[in-house]
Order: sequence, then structure tokens, then C-alpha cells
Amino acid sequence: MATLPKPKSRKRALLVVNPKARRGTGSIRAAVEILRASGIDATETAISRDETMADLIRREAESYDLVIVGGGDGTLNAAAPGLVDTGLPLGVLPLGTANDFARTLGIAPDPSQAARIIAAGFQAPIDLGEVNGHLFFNVASIGFSAELAADLTEHAKKRWGKLGYGIAAARILARSQLFSAYLDHDGTTEKIRTLQVSVGNGRHYGGGMTVEETATADDGKLDFYSLEVDHWWRLLALLPSLRKGTHGRWDDVRAFQTTEVTIRTSRPRPVNTDGELSTWTPAHFRIRPKAISVFTPDAEKAK
Ligand SMILES: [Mg+2]
Repeated sequence: MATLPKPKSRKRALLVVNPKARRGTGSIRAAVEILRASGIDATETAISRDETMADLIRREAESYDLVIVGGGDGTLNAAAPGLVDTGLPLGVLPLGTANDFARTLGIAPDPSQAARIIAAGFQAPIDLGEVNGHLFFNVASIGFSAELAADLTEHAKKRWGKLGYGIAAARILARSQLFSAYLDHDGTTEKIRTLQVSVGNGRHYGGGMTVEETATADDGKLDFYSLEVDHWWRLLALLPSLRKGTHGRWDDVRAFQTTEVTIRTSRPRPVNTDGELSTWTPAHFRIRPKAISVFTPDAEKAK
């Protein structure tokens, strides 16, 4: 007797969209349509006032096969604990001002194209970074960029977009100062004078900056760098390298790969994770290898 082909079962996706995302609802509707045509029913669910995005994912996990997050890096960051706890795979719809993690994965900031990547169904495990229990996709920083995030309001982001970062960056840089820190990693302790310390998980961050040109979000490593410049204006010369991720070649930049590092400062300094201030020094960073599974355009990496 011939075996009948098994009907392809439809998949249910929990769709959470950052209500403050810069891109409008039209592009989301097109993405949802592409998903439906490929057998994925996406249900957009709003976060209620007294819960976080991670709470929502945990609460709804039982009813879904995957989670699709519409937004930028900050939105993904908010979803991260819920994804780790539930083990549901993540589809990324890049709708934010900064979509650096999508870029690290090779997902263009086009919701329809991103929906086709989810529809294709290739999943791969990726690492997350963690600092004092807070997860991050791209980078965690201490120093001037952490202050930059504090200064850049949602309003400025919406109104000025990438230009907003530029204006705020110039303002912060002009009043930035070097600070001392102790660095514990791989069995050594070093005292450093730095303008900024960054610990990256993926490759891209900050709307067009690069942690390290060969870094990936699945190499099981954190990429550390510290800008040990004499004065902030040295950054103007370093900027092209910081964008390309080749700054580790300069004498006044300390850069290395590790899986765990602690940074201690004399007074507590804020730590920025993926654009949000989330914790303070002393900051203990570690890699969380293969912490979540994502839909990727890279069929080679998919398992
Ligand atoms: Mg990495």
C-alpha cells in the first residue's frame, strides 16, 4: 500500500513587535503574508503594561513553535532571556534604527526579505554575551559609548535616526575622559587607562561599527577591546578602523579574544548592553555558547 505524503503541518509563530519601531505596520503586514504563504501563522501579541518582552515569551511559549521579533537591537535584547528560557527559535524582522545583530547574521533590513529567511527554515545556534547576568547580542561597553546611550533619547532616535547618534556622540566625546580600570582575564590582572572598553559577541554594533572584522556570533568567543588613547581626538584617526573592525592593529588599542573577563573600576560605571544601560562595574562578562537558535540565511551553518 502506498504511503500517503504526510500533510505539512503549519507552524505557529509568536510575533512581538516593538511599538516604538521606526518602520510602520505596512512592512510587517507584508512579512506576515509571506510567512502565511509558507505555512507559518504569525500572531502578533502585545506586551501588557506589567510585563517585559521576556515575560510575554515565557507566558506564551507553550502555544508556539517559534518567536519572531520585530524591532532593532534593543528589542532583541529585551527578548533574549525569554528565548534562552523557552528554547524557542528566533526569527528576526529588522525594524529598528540600529539592526546590527541582523547585519551580523547577514539579514538585510528589509522585513519581506527577512520573512523569506524565516520561511526557508534554516536554523543555527548562536552565542550570547552575558554581563552580571544581563544578556547581549552585539556588544557591552563601559565608557563614552555607555554615556552616549544614556543621552540618546527615544525621541532623538526617531527624529534624527543615525544622525542622532552622530550629534550625541560629538557632544559626549567632547567631555569624555580616560578612566582607570583593572582587567582580570585568562589568569592575568592588568591595570589600564582607557576611554572605552567594549566586549563583543557578534561582529557589528552601534549602527555601523565593527567589534572585530572576523568576529562571529557563533565562534564561542567574546572579542574585547579597550581604547587606550592619549586624548579623545585620537578617535578621529581611529574611526575608520573602528568602523571596519581593524582597530586592534593600533598600538593604543588593546584587543584580544576570550570567554570570560572582569572589569573593575574605582567608582561604579554604567555598562551598556546593546544600547541600553543595564548594569554597573564591577562587570563580569562571559560567553554563553550556543545559547539560542536563530533562523539564518546561511544554509551552510544551519543544522
Ligand atoms: Mg563571538
